Amino acid sequence: MTNETWGQIREGLIHRVGKNNYTTWIEPLRLSQLRNGVARFEVPTSFFGDWVQRNYADQIRSQLVHAGAPVDRLEFEVGAEAPRPDSQVTDSRAAEARAPEARTAAPTARPAARRAAAEDDLPGAPLDSRFTFDSFVVGKPNELAHAAARRVAEGGPVTFNPLFLYGGVGLGKTHLMHAIAHDLRQNRPDLRVLYLSAEQFMYRFIQALREKQVMDFKSLFRSVDVLMVDDVQFIAGKDSTQEEFFHTFNALVDQNKQIVISADRAPGEIKDLEERIKSRLQCGLVVDLHPTDYELRLGILQQKVEYYRSQYRGLVIAPGVLEFLAHRITTNVRVLEGALTRLFAFASLVGREITLELTQDCLADILRASDRKLTIEEIQRKVAEHYNVRLSDLIGPKRLRTIARPRQVAMYLAKQLTSRSLPEIGRRFGGRDHTTIMHGVRKIEELAATDSQLADDLQLLKRLLQG
Ligand code: ADP
Ligand code: MG
Repeated sequence: MTNETWGQIREGLIHRVGKNNYTTWIEPLRLSQLRNGVARFEVPTSFFGDWVQRNYADQIRSQLVHAGAPVDRLEFEVGAEAPRPDSQVTDSRAAEARAPEARTAAPTARPAARRAAAEDDLPGAPLDSRFTFDSFVVGKPNELAHAAARRVAEGGPVTFNPLFLYGGVGLGKTHLMHAIAHDLRQNRPDLRVLYLSAEQFMYRFIQALREKQVMDFKSLFRSVDVLMVDDVQFIAGKDSTQEEFFHTFNALVDQNKQIVISADRAPGEIKDLEERIKSRLQCGLVVDLHPTDYELRLGILQQKVEYYRSQYRGLVIAPGVLEFLAHRITTNVRVLEGALTRLFAFASLVGREITLELTQDCLADILRASDRKLTIEEIQRKVAEHYNVRLSDLIGPKRLRTIARPRQVAMYLAKQLTSRSLPEIGRRFGGRDHTTIMHGVRKIEELAATDSQLADDLQLLKRLLQG
């Protein structure tokens, strides 16, 4: 059998392994020898050979047998003509692949220590050791996200793919993803877990393009068991990165590998993200981290205080201080934490009890910022952006439905989210009469009761505006 005949035979594998996997793993294989029941292929790197051996050997063999070639074993050798400059990552993994037991053992049967060593090769971001499930306070706004993350962290069979976590900044998305990674490393050291931000994914990809190591990049990302990509909204509008992300995503889903994604908004709301990616992201479980409520904030503060007490001994907090903070700092958990850190540092420096008065002094700027009033202009700008209409049209006289509806939404939000009176709002909408504003507000209230798309829009906008 020649390499050309193999060229025809291998095409039968397209529908068995999928187009993506076919292009990445099957097409580059060159049949160099077929003798004594052994089919020998040339591959670009030994990692490549190892990967094909582990994942596609059976399919390739049966395809060959089907075509009349009596093959019972496949062998791979690194192509002699075009040795590729292996990256460090590929080198150490190639060394691993050459070890005799690694050749025959199934991936999951490999000893944990060996696997843990290989973990160092993964180009992931470092994990924050404080971001564990133990330190994550669960409340109504995040209970669903927490439960889903726990499920993934068990490392059992994949039940939903991907897990898509979204919500505003500082609500715990990164914390939950790190917690998943910590737990998996502890409980399932056999799994290759890769966590990184979408920005790092892009950076790696561009680097691979530049250094002509796209194949290594692909191999690496397709070889993980759990892939977590944080802040995926970052790749919106970055076309070649999106494309590569899409292929990586599909290849892993095809192999039934768990994927966890986070973003600052729902998949459908991410601008400049390709439709096919949006719809893929929506296929799994999409969970929303809601803005914190008072109880959750208080719970988080109480937990952090335990931690700070162990750091700054002898500190005393007057009753009511934590409640005051939970009540006043509503933006996000990161700000809340920052406030507490500063408060403790200050109090320990001056050696005073943390009273309400000291708190107000020490945190004056943070408290003032949290107090910030939302303006009608901000609402108008966000609404215009959301519906993709011009700000001048939103305020101006046009009566087109595509503009009039967003305008009414903005009126409604201005009434709901600010303390401005109807005449005041009217003035900001190009000098309209207060009855026009009232009509707009009522109209949206009515519609939102039956139109779920509109209700979703309102919810999203409120969330974006209130941070
Ligand atoms: P995001 O990725 O959603 O922007 P992070 O996960 O970085 O937010 O969280 C910001 C900070 O708030 C982190 O220090 C994190 O530990 C803390 N945090 C957020 N939610 C919680 C929670 N429910 N319990 C404890 N800490 C939390
Ligand atoms: Mg984050």
